Amino acid sequence: MEYICELIEHNIKDFTNYCVKRKNISIEEDRLHLLEVNGTCPLCGNSLLKNSGKKTKLYEIAHIYPNKPTEQEKYVLNDVQVLGDNSESFQNKIALCFNCHKNYDSHKNKEEYNKLIEKKKKLYAAEKIKNELSNLDLFPQIEKLLDKISTGNIFSNETIELNMTPLEIQHKFQKSEFLLENKIRDYVIRYFVSIREYLKNLAETNQFNFERFAITIKLAYITIQSSAKTKDEIFDSLINWLMSKMQTTNRIVCEIIISYFVQNCEVFDEVTK
Ligand SMILES: [Zn+2]
Repeated sequence: MEYICELIEHNIKDFTNYCVKRKNISIEEDRLHLLEVNGTCPLCGNSLLKNSGKKTKLYEIAHIYPNKPTEQEKYVLNDVQVLGDNSESFQNKIALCFNCHKNYDSHKNKEEYNKLIEKKKKLYAAEKIKNELSNLDLFPQIEKLLDKISTGNIFSNETIELNMTPLEIQHKFQKSEFLLENKIRDYVIRYFVSIREYLKNLAETNQFNFERFAITIKLAYITIQSSAKTKDEIFDSLINWLMSKMQTTNRIVCEIIISYFVQNCEVFDEVTK
């Protein structure tokens, strides 16, 4: 089952159309539900698997909007937002621990309902982004760049003047974002020219397409930007993505590379001051 599908939101007007016959959950769907909540109950934080030799399930898949609403439930949830085409959609279900599932089902009110639906929307969006990012491919040749930076073998005499903040960076940050701006500026001053030279040489060997590399970084930025709130969050998520893609634990090297793309204009847009 493909995770990437649209999260359809609409207001419930007609229960009879939305509520359909209960459908069995496949092993694959069950696994996706567990992954979506990162193996913990989204309401209480308890682990959903017991690891005692063999893994024991400590969860059930709950309907957010009930599959067979009682008259009382129809009444309290009369104008709520629902997710998915019908009550059996993946979007209307979520993994909960036994206790939270029981509580949720037995005391349904609008507040609890809205709380759960907001959790689902956040988790769904995060999972969709994780999926999109894992589909972006980087070039194996970039490993060499990581190596060169981490061993100090990338260095030219040309650095950007130390007292000068490159214009591109200056235009991308608000005053309050000075910590991140300073960090990126320092990396750019020290490494931008050398990395540019290195990538240029690599592109001349015809094993490497710089444009494609830059577009991949841009796509990762756009994908992350859609859910992250601050530049710090975006920068961190880009670093985490690059680290996992390159299977490296060297955070600083990845910060240097992403900073290169801030200066090169793939990451962060200009702010209007
Ligand atoms: Zn729970």
